[in-house]
Amino acid sequence: MRVIILGSGGYHPNNERHTLCLVLPEAGLILDAGTAFFRLADYLDQRRWDVFLTHTHLDHIIGLTYYWSLTRQTKLGEMVVHGLEEKLEAVRTHLFADPLFPKMPPYRFEPLDGHPRFLLERTGWPSTEIRYFPLDHPGGSIGYRFDWSDRSLAYVTDTTARAAASYLPHIRGVDLLLHECHFPTGCEDLAAKTGHVTRAQVERVASEAGAKRLVLLHRNPIEDDRSSQTSDAAGTDSPSLVAHDGLVVEF
Ligand SMILES: [Zn+2]
Ligand SMILES: [Zn+2]
Repeated sequence: MRVIILGSGGYHPNNERHTLCLVLPEAGLILDAGTAFFRLADYLDQRRWDVFLTHTHLDHIIGLTYYWSLTRQTKLGEMVVHGLEEKLEAVRTHLFADPLFPKMPPYRFEPLDGHPRFLLERTGWPSTEIRYFPLDHPGGSIGYRFDWSDRSLAYVTDTTARAAASYLPHIRGVDLLLHECHFPTGCEDLAAKTGHVTRAQVERVASEAGAKRLVLLHRNPIEDDRSSQTSDAAGTDSPSLVAHDGLVVEF
């Protein structure tokens, strides 16, 4: 199975990175809808695709407004958007408010609330067990874990990651952990103030959770890939990889 990092950045795009949008072409799943959402044109088809939103900060949802462009490039089937009820309501009433956007796309919004662990079964796709759990971030965010019969993936973005982070049990032993890493090691104060993490923090959490592989996402748009972010590895057994747009991770 593959996960393709269509956009690896956080907050706003820069010349190298769009904001978060990931696609699992063999599972029919899309994670978040940042500015890289337009790149889904190469993957979508007339089957049902499911989008899982972590929260509704604009860098994670603005791409939902690109629907009409996608539908001109490829024939789309049903698109189901999942998230907490209050977040989906915010998308409907604010992102797609008349003064902001001309025409609401035909998404089906499906609130997650009350089902912290459930099975997603759809024709033509492998059945997927899905868990979601709260993260520590201004306004709230949620992480996801996806389990199939023979592999697992966790997606954790827009969160702090203090020692013994509350979400740790949910990602324990996961095959692939996709985790935000907005700040380089040494910016712990700034990370705590803004609800994000540093590389040292995320590598420690990944190691504590026994994640088999770690890919770092939601990169600060003003950080240079070639400088601090890639050179400050915190010393951990978890092999980690800094994502770039277009990165394909087999797991
Ligand atoms: Zn973000
Ligand atoms: Zn956020």
